[in-house]
Amino acid sequence: MIAVFESAANKQKIYGGENMSLIVQKFGGSSVANAERVFNVARIVTDTYKKGNKVVVVVSAQGDTTDDLIDKANEINPNASKREKDMLLAAGEQISISLLAMAIEKLGYPVVSLLGWQAGFQTSSAYTSARIKRVKTDRIEKELDKNNIVVVAGFQGVNRYEDVTTLGRGGSDTSAVAIAAAMHADLCQIYTDVEGVYTADPRKVSNAAKLKTISYDEMLELATLGAQVLNNRSVEMAKKYNIELEVLSSLTNAPGTIVKEATKMEKMLISGVAKDTNVARISVVGVPDVPGLAFKMFSKLSSKGINVDIILQSIGRDGTKDISFTVAKENVKEAAAAMEEYVDAVGGKSVLVDENVAKISIVGAGMESHAGVATKMFEALYDAQINIRMISTSEIKVSVLIDEKNADAAVSAIHSKFFDEN
Ligand code: ASP
Ligand code: MG
Repeated sequence: MIAVFESAANKQKIYGGENMSLIVQKFGGSSVANAERVFNVARIVTDTYKKGNKVVVVVSAQGDTTDDLIDKANEINPNASKREKDMLLAAGEQISISLLAMAIEKLGYPVVSLLGWQAGFQTSSAYTSARIKRVKTDRIEKELDKNNIVVVAGFQGVNRYEDVTTLGRGGSDTSAVAIAAAMHADLCQIYTDVEGVYTADPRKVSNAAKLKTISYDEMLELATLGAQVLNNRSVEMAKKYNIELEVLSSLTNAPGTIVKEATKMEKMLISGVAKDTNVARISVVGVPDVPGLAFKMFSKLSSKGINVDIILQSIGRDGTKDISFTVAKENVKEAAAAMEEYVDAVGGKSVLVDENVAKISIVGAGMESHAGVATKMFEALYDAQINIRMISTSEIKVSVLIDEKNADAAVSAIHSKFFDEN
């Protein structure tokens, strides 16, 4: 992703003095879900401001507002244009920035709220999944110079047609990181309803532990794997511009997790175990065992913009072979249809689809230099009598595909293998 941040020069000098820092604080939808929570956020923000810091706040829409707006759109016209969808969805953040600004006013502090376009978010033209091209921070700077707390609508910007765009679900994390990058902020805090990044989902695994730090790469794997703490584009951007993120809860005072470049000493063998149930397996059975087959097959999918994850090919027998792969659930119908067509064209046997699968992954920057990590994971699954259906590995990750009904048991078994003292 290319993001150009124009007015980044010398920000450090303007705001980053010995006792004055520029702090970006982002609050997710659950943190501003009702009036009480809005005041709670207003208190966190004004406490930061009181200490002499410049504060830029980025907020998401309240609670389920974005989902509710999508429902409303579908009631009227499920095939509405993406332009109009963005026009609607951007309203959620307009509500939360103004309410938060009102709460800050009530606490007696100077504040101004800004929509994405007012805050200088220029994006690509792709409605509903726009990319931030640059943040022209002049207006934000002007407001900070007037000693205002600046509250910015996350998730939205403006494209070259002067239309409102949104960045895709969960996009306000990226809005916050983009401001932090453009303005060379001293700190970028992402407030949410969990206290940080854990070794496994704390709601499911009772002894899951909060990590003090995690590297960008590990966080990216965990974000993609469904750990759902940070949007992965925000982590990509933080990595690219080397912005340290602190993930913490707006509801408790506990220290959070720092996401940053890994240092050698901190490289934990395993940082976490993640579960992803948004996967389906497609098997293409009995296709000719000839060169170019995989290439042609996967071109069909990539031309439709469908990402393939784990791939497994059987050894050829009697001139035919099977190829299995996984896709996200929302792509399964389209992918299976494309494969049916393909199997017919090449004289293959059949296409099988299984949606009752889950991907379980372990992630750790330390596994690069340690053998036996995958074996330990497989042993945990064996002990729990859980069958592995597919495997894939990378430098810092091992993923297995298993039956969905075993997903939680698998996470627990693997987590205790790596994290319980024995
Ligand atoms: N309100 C938007 C959403 O729900 C953006 C965000 O929460 O980051 O996806
Ligand atoms: Mg939201």
